[in-house]
Amino acid sequence: MQKILLLGSTGSIGENVLNIVRTQKEFYKIIGISAKNRSKELVQQALEFNPDFVLIGNEQLFSEVKNALAHTKIQVFSGEQNLAKLVRECDFDLLFNSLVGSVGVLPTIESLKKGKDVALANKETLVVAGEFVMNLARQKKAFVRPVDSEHSAIWQCLVGENEKEIDKLIITASGGPFRTLPKEKFANVTVQEALNHPNWKMGNKITIDSATLMNKGFEVIEAYHFFGNVKVEVVVHPQSIIHSMVEFCDGSVKAQLGIPDMKIPIQFALSYPKRWKSEFERMDLAKIGKLTFELPDFEKFRCLKLALDCLESGGTSACVLNAANEIAVEYFLKEKIRFTQIPEMIEKSLEKHEFFSHPSVEMLLEIDLRTRNFVRKEIEKLC
Ligand code: MN
Repeated sequence: MQKILLLGSTGSIGENVLNIVRTQKEFYKIIGISAKNRSKELVQQALEFNPDFVLIGNEQLFSEVKNALAHTKIQVFSGEQNLAKLVRECDFDLLFNSLVGSVGVLPTIESLKKGKDVALANKETLVVAGEFVMNLARQKKAFVRPVDSEHSAIWQCLVGENEKEIDKLIITASGGPFRTLPKEKFANVTVQEALNHPNWKMGNKITIDSATLMNKGFEVIEAYHFFGNVKVEVVVHPQSIIHSMVEFCDGSVKAQLGIPDMKIPIQFALSYPKRWKSEFERMDLAKIGKLTFELPDFEKFRCLKLALDCLESGGTSACVLNAANEIAVEYFLKEKIRFTQIPEMIEKSLEKHEFFSHPSVEMLLEIDLRTRNFVRKEIEKLC
């Protein structure tokens, strides 16, 4: 019986994890769950899965959750700052980290410190502290399992292969809802238009990141760290059937295909090294008809370019990129800034920041906080 600590259980990944665990109850036990604001869903999940621990991020919702679970033996905690503490103190076999934002960094680190594997759906962990996190994993012989569809695809292509024989990774991008939109129309993109992703159904923050292609930029940075500092390229593939590819030193290319549905990569992160039988919808290539590919437009998608530049410069750059992006997206969702102001805010933050090439985690978290405050002030100046 594997004990899973699932952080971010009420998000779209978290719910899928629980759906899969529901079908594998004899192998998996949910030992702890957490949510930021969705207290009602969290309580419902707790009543169904009967974990030992529940954490609600928003402290104002603590008594609501506590009261709703008063008749059970479940221990209730609150405050996002206590997520890392929960990881430290809870006895589990696998951390499933589906938190959104850099709040996911410390829980990953705490889990690896204990030598426990992490199924990592939280992108920001490797964007902010990739070098540190992967070194720690190697040191502690703990494994970071990719959950994102692209990284899962590469991981699946690499089963039985030697990482030293990789020439490059090719990450596919759907291109998002604005792939064919002329550049001059970007400034007037509405929140609703940006939330309307053609292929994937996801939470709001990542959907905006997919519209700016920042999500793809993050995925390149993640892939670089995940798979041992290899060369990574992006190709736009609007059908999202090929989830990513690996080119080997002999010129051979492997791809992993499937319909765009997170259930398969999520299940593989749990079932690895095995595969489980599933009832998931199957791919029908004849119905799909054709797969097309094109280069990304860096002029239109400034965020992708900025992310690639940050990977190049290393050090504290990607931490600033992520923090500035998180705040800019938050304000875009509140309709306080325009779509095109997201990359502008990130650029300003990158210009402003004091660069360090080998930062400690404490330093990264400090820079994260400082960048957030900087962007908030810049936006307030505009209003
Ligand atoms: Mn992805």
